[in-house]
Amino acid sequence: MPFTPFHLGPALLIGLLFFPFLDLVSLLVSSVIVDVEPLYLMTQHAPYLHGFFHSYIGGTIIGILVATGMYPIRSWLQKIIALFGILQRSSFHRILFTSILGAYSHILLDSFLYGEMKPFYPWDFNPFLNAVSALSIYGFCSISFILGLIIYAYRATRGWRTGKSIGLTTSPVRKMLIIVMVTVIAFGLWLLMSSLPFWEPKLRVNLHHHRPVRLPQETFLRLG
Ligand SMILES: [Zn+2]
Repeated sequence: MPFTPFHLGPALLIGLLFFPFLDLVSLLVSSVIVDVEPLYLMTQHAPYLHGFFHSYIGGTIIGILVATGMYPIRSWLQKIIALFGILQRSSFHRILFTSILGAYSHILLDSFLYGEMKPFYPWDFNPFLNAVSALSIYGFCSISFILGLIIYAYRATRGWRTGKSIGLTTSPVRKMLIIVMVTVIAFGLWLLMSSLPFWEPKLRVNLHHHRPVRLPQETFLRLG
C-alpha cells in the first residue's frame, strides 16, 4: 500500500492528462490491484506484506495479467465509463502498456514507504526508501486526486466545446450529474483528509520501524 485507494489519485490525474495515449480504466485498476498481494499475505500471517509482486518484475507480470483480463471485457467497460461521460476505445497494445505503467506507479509510490520492499528484485536494494516522507506521498496522492477530479469535471462538461472532450457530454442533465458526482467525491475526500490522525500510527511505523505493526482497532474502524 499506501492505504490502497490513495493510488487512484496519481492514476486518475495521469490517465486524464494523457487520455489520448493511455487506457483510463486499465490504469485505475492496475494501480490498485497490486495490493492484492499484501491482502493475501495478511491472511497468511506472513512476516512481511510487500513481496515479489511489489517489484518491477512482479509488476510487469501483474500488468500483463490485468491487460489479458481487461481486453476481452473492454466493450462492457466502455459502456460503464460512458455513464461518466467518458468515451474511450483502446487497442490491446495500449491496454497492455497502460496496465504495466499503472503497476509500476504503484510500486514506485510504495517503495518510498516500505523497508521490506525490493523494487529491483532480484537485487536487494531500495534507493527510494524514506527519500520522500510518507506524509508527502499521501499529500501528493490526495492532491493528484483533487486535480484529477477538476480536470475530469472540466473535460467532461466544458471541454466538449473546445474539442478536448473525453466524451460526448452535451446533455445539460449529464453535465449537472457529473458536477454533483465530482462535488460529492471531493467532499468525501476532504472528510477523509480532515480525519488526519488516522495516518499517524501508520506513519510512525513506516518511518521508524520499516515493518508492519498492528494498528489500533479504532484505526480500522475509521478506515473501514
Ligand atoms: Zn502496495
